[in-house]
Amino acid sequence: MIRRTLLALAVAAGVAVFVLLPPRTLTIAPSAQATPILRGAMHVHTTNSDGSGTPDDVAAAAARAGLRFVILTDHGDATRTPDRPQYRSGVLTIDAVEVSTAGGHVIALGLPKAPYPLRGEPDDVLEDLQRLGAMAIVAHPTSLKADLVWRGSAGPSSRPFDGVEWLNGDSEWRDERFASLSRILLTYWFRAPESLALILDRPESALELWDRATRSHSVVGLSGSDAHAKIGGDLDHGGPAAVHLPSYEQVFRTFSLGLPGVVLSGDTPADARAVIAAIRAGHVFTAIDAFAQPARLVFTASGSGISAQAGDRVAAGAQLALHAEVDAPELAPTLTLYRDGSMVSTATGSRLDYQSDGAPGVYRVEATLPVRRGGGPLAPWLVSNPIYVGPAVPWALPASPPPVASKVIYKDGASPLAVEHSDLSDGAVTVVRAEGGTQLSLRFALGGKLSDAPFVAFASDTPDIGSYTAVSFTGRASRPMRISVQLRASPGQGGGRWRKSV
Ligand SMILES: [Zn+2]
Ligand SMILES: [Zn+2]
Repeated sequence: MIRRTLLALAVAAGVAVFVLLPPRTLTIAPSAQATPILRGAMHVHTTNSDGSGTPDDVAAAAARAGLRFVILTDHGDATRTPDRPQYRSGVLTIDAVEVSTAGGHVIALGLPKAPYPLRGEPDDVLEDLQRLGAMAIVAHPTSLKADLVWRGSAGPSSRPFDGVEWLNGDSEWRDERFASLSRILLTYWFRAPESLALILDRPESALELWDRATRSHSVVGLSGSDAHAKIGGDLDHGGPAAVHLPSYEQVFRTFSLGLPGVVLSGDTPADARAVIAAIRAGHVFTAIDAFAQPARLVFTASGSGISAQAGDRVAAGAQLALHAEVDAPELAPTLTLYRDGSMVSTATGSRLDYQSDGAPGVYRVEATLPVRRGGGPLAPWLVSNPIYVGPAVPWALPASPPPVASKVIYKDGASPLAVEHSDLSDGAVTVVRAEGGTQLSLRFALGGKLSDAPFVAFASDTPDIGSYTAVSFTGRASRPMRISVQLRASPGQGGGRWRKSV
């Protein structure tokens, strides 16, 4: 009796899996004369931070998934010397870093070891990254987890970023209901990439943020796997792994980045430079391979003397022929052309052609596939980078208005500064003679673990400045550093604190 019940249960479970199985990935016959596409993935955590696999494991998984490059992005403050690019299992691994700011995470691509720990306000970290020559890619900008949301300042004075994840593997998990996650857990063992693709919605808020940002300057849209190969605890911030799931390999099979025309030579540093250069230029599209693969998306603009591809910027004025093309007309894909985030043209089939009047605008293309029984695509299948028509709006810090009144806090004479420090740190102030007066020389040594947040502060009472709106000072340092400037109200005045890192 028990055996029969078990058998019935097993049959029922089998039927359930069968009914719930998502449709199989479609296979496309690639066209023979097409530009080669170099496929890879970005935003992967390893045992160097909170991932469950070593860089070798990650590369081996990428090789099994047919990828040729992987950008590793372990959490850090960029003071670790990045590993040199390396071929592992035939896969080019490029070491980058995911920096946690006070308002979200940003991936630094192409960054050498930073001269000081990168942290602080989002705009300050962007400033550091750009000054140090990195490409700053905002990760999971609209995550449902509050402390992962990008909170860089908004509006015309906000410092621009160079790239953004329009799709992030971790964010996509967070909006799923229990029923849908249970289904994926059941069908994952039979059709893993197809099951993982079930959680991919069209991430409206991230796409909107990207479209908004591209109106003033070029911003590369990318997918970030955010792969850790584990569940249990906090997906983005560690905790011991309970289960190594979804695996790196299956995440890599679910979606990827495609770099048209990039061919690896085997010369490791040159290949790494070529991959990074293509990504920086926006010569990259995202493909959800679990829907249909191998995917190819070409998006070009041509006109008198103009020949541009996705990621490029062309001058306004001349008429432009915009052309988008994918393989696989047999899948009846729909190509949609967006201008400044709004749909301007759609076509079903493998080609879309559009005549633009040459007015300034930002054009990008999405390809979608028809929904199939058993759970079809909700997310776009392919997403291009934009072609920008017209000049970028140069960004500059807004100039401060000239002061109407000012008050000198220190000019000459004895130091008004007292030293405050954490247990194992210390500092000293000396007054040194300088041309035209004196200067304060501040020396400090930080001690203790990073997690103890060691600090040395030089503090002064500055009464009667409550009605002022700005603090200005001149400083120089013996080496690059970022310092925090703070104003604290006394406990009697509410004890508030204003701070800005410099
Ligand atoms: Zn993150
Ligand atoms: Zn991450």
